[in-house]
Amino acid sequence: MRILITGGAGFIGSHLCDRLLADGHEVMAIDNLITGSTRNIEHLAGHERFRFIKHDVTEYIYVEGPLDAVLHLASLPSPVDYLNEPIKTLKVGALGTHKALGLARAKGARFLLASTSEVYGDPAVHPQSESYWGHVNPVGPRGVYDESKRFAEALTMAYHRTHGLQTRIVRIFNTYGPRMRLDDGRVVPNFVKQALLGEPLTVFDDGLRTRSFCYYSDLVEGICRLLRSDEVEPVNLGNPHEMTILDFARLIIRLSGSRSEIRFVTPNDQRTADDPNRRCPDITKAQRVLGWQPEVPVELGLRHTIAWFRDRLG
Ligand code: NAD
Ligand code: UDP
Repeated sequence: MRILITGGAGFIGSHLCDRLLADGHEVMAIDNLITGSTRNIEHLAGHERFRFIKHDVTEYIYVEGPLDAVLHLASLPSPVDYLNEPIKTLKVGALGTHKALGLARAKGARFLLASTSEVYGDPAVHPQSESYWGHVNPVGPRGVYDESKRFAEALTMAYHRTHGLQTRIVRIFNTYGPRMRLDDGRVVPNFVKQALLGEPLTVFDDGLRTRSFCYYSDLVEGICRLLRSDEVEPVNLGNPHEMTILDFARLIIRLSGSRSEIRFVTPNDQRTADDPNRRCPDITKAQRVLGWQPEVPVELGLRHTIAWFRDRLG
């Protein structure tokens, strides 16, 4: 297949490039590098089936030749990034998704949207299954990301229903691994960097909020299965191993052999406004439709991630 990946120089996008190239496909990555980096794809320079195009996908996307699939990952998914760039976040979710869908339609390509567990907001149902419609504050600070993805899902379904476009929607739950930006502000880079530098781990508020962390390779496998499947409705992909952020901090300290302490802090910006209290995917549908479930235990995934960050920090 000839596949285009928006956000292809980002954390997940670059791993998808690697996987799809390894599977024998031709891959084009489009990225404006706002949060991504060419460092994530530098090893692919000169690869005969890979091409990188620097471009903002909120503008018209021109691609020569046929395309079999468009995977739309461009977004600003870290709370620090989307709180700093709320309008760009809304634009990439709305205008960027529109351009990517238009391209897929023009080429007769299959379209896959990278959506998020944030569409469930601060969920009133636990664990979250795809049938839950969510609990989102549209005018809160997180609303810019959540609503951009909800709009993107609605637009994707509208293209499917109106134009018969072959569409797929993956709702990604917290995913981590090598190539996350050291300063992207999400909890994994923050805690791992702090642990390796011997700094206190900044646990927000009481640390009792929960998340469920999925290793990138499991997610990439799930996305590839979804792309090949016939499932048009959204599918959750994530690791149902739920833990409190406090326990997660303790685990990272232990696995990295760090002597860091835990420091409870209340951020004085808007980072914890509407911060979901609990999050855990119900992956029954992914198991049934894709025969997928995560294989990498969190301890193993974290060991690989810590080793990668250690290397990066020198
Ligand atoms: P990332 O920031 O590493 O990747 C996003 C990429 O999109 C970056 O390379 C960025 O430069 C690019 N981008 C942003 N706006 C753009 C624009 N206007 N034009 C072109 N490129 C643009 O983050 P990630 O974690 O790899 O996320 C990838 C996708 O997965 C995103 O759509 C995100 O919403 C989704 N997702 C990720 C997680 C997670 O835990 N990592 C969870 C839920 C959803
Ligand atoms: N968090 C924290 N300390 C940090 C960064 C994040 O306690 O230094 C918390 C944050 O409040 C949230 C959870 O960790 O409850 C996950 O945050 P992240 O930014 O990784 O992603 P989210 O799941 O909120 O999108």
